[in-house]
Amino acid sequence: MRICGICDVMTIEITLLGTGSPIPDPNRAGPSTLIRAGGQVLLIDCGRGVLQRMAAAGASANTLSALLLTHLHSDHIADLGDLLITRWVTTFRPDPPPLTIIGPPGTSEVVEATLRAFGHDIGYRIAHHADLTTPPPVEVREHTTGQVWDRDGVQITVAPTDHRPVTPTIGFRVEYADGSGTASVVLAGDTVPCDSLDALAAGAGALVHTVIRKDLIAALPQQRIRDICDYHSSVAEAAATAQRAGVGTLVLTHYVPAIAPGQEEQWRALAAAEFEGPIELGDDLHRVEVVAGG
Ligand SMILES: [Zn+2]
Ligand SMILES: [Zn+2]
Repeated sequence: MRICGICDVMTIEITLLGTGSPIPDPNRAGPSTLIRAGGQVLLIDCGRGVLQRMAAAGASANTLSALLLTHLHSDHIADLGDLLITRWVTTFRPDPPPLTIIGPPGTSEVVEATLRAFGHDIGYRIAHHADLTTPPPVEVREHTTGQVWDRDGVQITVAPTDHRPVTPTIGFRVEYADGSGTASVVLAGDTVPCDSLDALAAGAGALVHTVIRKDLIAALPQQRIRDICDYHSSVAEAAATAQRAGVGTLVLTHYVPAIAPGQEEQWRALAAAEFEGPIELGDDLHRVEVVAGG
């Protein structure tokens, strides 16, 4: 349980583990976000370099409560294999519980295929270590809507997003409640504005939204790069979603292109033109605390 020292109320802590995109960047890991709520640790997406960023944030694969996947684009699942294997080999208690993985339909197939890809490694380790007798235990749950988690005051709800032709895709709402109030964070993933995201985000304390600068990307010569404007929100569109939904704080991540040094205020201004509340953006490991009721 984390308590805000000043106001003595419950909080949810957001850490932007990876703020990058499919384009490798020396300073930005792939898309992934860590949520800490009531002693539970949730990882949303697991892009390139996620385990190194988790280590920097004081988290580890073997203490995760669950992995939540917004969709199955490669940049959001790039290090799934590393996560599954590392959790397995660094969990030393006998009979370790399975890692809960919640994602859209297709997630089971991806997890099974990933474990198959590491089948040789899994076989080597089972042969070598007497206390490793089974492959990495996982429990995959596929959802597109509704409540998917209710444990010790933490509830998670999912709803469809619109990242077509990538389908299905989902966003998550994490709520942490006790007698003093409810803290809430919505993770939109990659999506264009849509009614179901507006509903999922309604009144949330924070909205974590992936964004691209369509004004910059649309000017590039490669059609394949320009195509990504079709199914992502611009900074202004994400901010307009936050405004419509009446969220407390807008947290931007997954910057395409990467925010150039000194350009943060330009990005912030684009969002501020559409959203009245506080706007958070920054480098990997940027943290935001969301207070109950706020
Ligand atoms: Zn995507
Ligand atoms: Zn993406």
